[in-house]
Amino acid sequence: MTHHETTNQSDEILARSTEFVPPALDWFREENCGSVVDWRIAMKRAIRSGHELRSILGLDGDALSSNGGQLCGGGGGSEKSFDRLVRSEKAFPTFVPLEYLSRIRPQDPNDPLLRQVLPDPNEDAEMPGFVTDPVGDLQVMPAPAILHKYHGRALVVTTGACGVHCRYCFRREFPYSEASAGGQSLEPALKYLGEHTEVEEVLLSGGDPLTLVDQRLQEMVEAIAQFEHVKRLRVHTRMPIVIPQRVTGELIEILRRASLAVWFVVHVNHPRELDAHVLERLARLIDAGIPVLNQAVLLKGINDSVETLEQLCNLLVNHRIQPYYLHQLDRVRGASHFEVPVEKGLAIMRELRKRLPGYAMPEYVVEESGETSKTPIVSSLNP
Ligand code: SF4
Repeated sequence: MTHHETTNQSDEILARSTEFVPPALDWFREENCGSVVDWRIAMKRAIRSGHELRSILGLDGDALSSNGGQLCGGGGGSEKSFDRLVRSEKAFPTFVPLEYLSRIRPQDPNDPLLRQVLPDPNEDAEMPGFVTDPVGDLQVMPAPAILHKYHGRALVVTTGACGVHCRYCFRREFPYSEASAGGQSLEPALKYLGEHTEVEEVLLSGGDPLTLVDQRLQEMVEAIAQFEHVKRLRVHTRMPIVIPQRVTGELIEILRRASLAVWFVVHVNHPRELDAHVLERLARLIDAGIPVLNQAVLLKGINDSVETLEQLCNLLVNHRIQPYYLHQLDRVRGASHFEVPVEKGLAIMRELRKRLPGYAMPEYVVEESGETSKTPIVSSLNP
């Protein structure tokens, strides 16, 4: 079925989501002639430079930073800012697929989708408390590509590749070449899982596991499913949001064939990330019996308002997706300009609770290095 051969259900989805469908950039619509390219082609044609991104969006003449000109004024920014920007991008390259780009408003340097992916000179600022491994991943790696932090669950770092590079990513400096199943053989990770019969749930994470081709993914899923003690497979992915056509019938078949309960956890921070195509592909997963949860990160200038998060949570539950976590930003080096004070996060949560049904409320949490669970953030005034 092509994107345009929609079922009745998909038509309904489109109708329900109309108000959130952003106008696609004309050139994107023309280039695609209304069709959807294979997800691997979508990966290949992604924008890989901040300069190109700015140029496509008509932002050449704007300030390099959108944080109120802390590092630069208008009119293109200072040379110092430019150097810092070059260093930021070298440390963590730009990667933005056209499918995501088409949802960004042109000529708006503060667009909440753009701010998630556009390199910023502020990333080069050294800030106290912001470190390379904020959640202590490297301390809980008993074998290459395995993180075993929580009771009964283990995480496989499947690959270092992602379908988009989020500038606030807590794994932006993760040593994927030594510590992922893409850089290493999966054997040590499988050996570990086989020996640890207390592991009931395996998380496929990364990077993004859905950047792996179907055959590799199938081998991984089958290898994990062979362990009788493993009952559940959780797939942590942003691919259905940034390159929705990755959710194919073949992918769903691979997951359905596994003798495991499969759960998806996607990552959406702003309601405008959910366009009709994304919602239609997520509906395919849910219709196939795969529950979909969402985790969002609280990000300054992007979703740190009651209205934005209310809209996001309502849109998610309208489409049968459960808001799961709202994460306080992990304090990774280079992301300090995205941090929202906890007091503000708590105030937003208090107001959200008045506006949303209980099942639409995400849990506000922080991940602390060395802890054996996520830590809920609750107000001492109003627990
Ligand atoms: S998709 Fe996830 S792992 Fe990849 S850059 Fe974004 S936050 Fe990081």
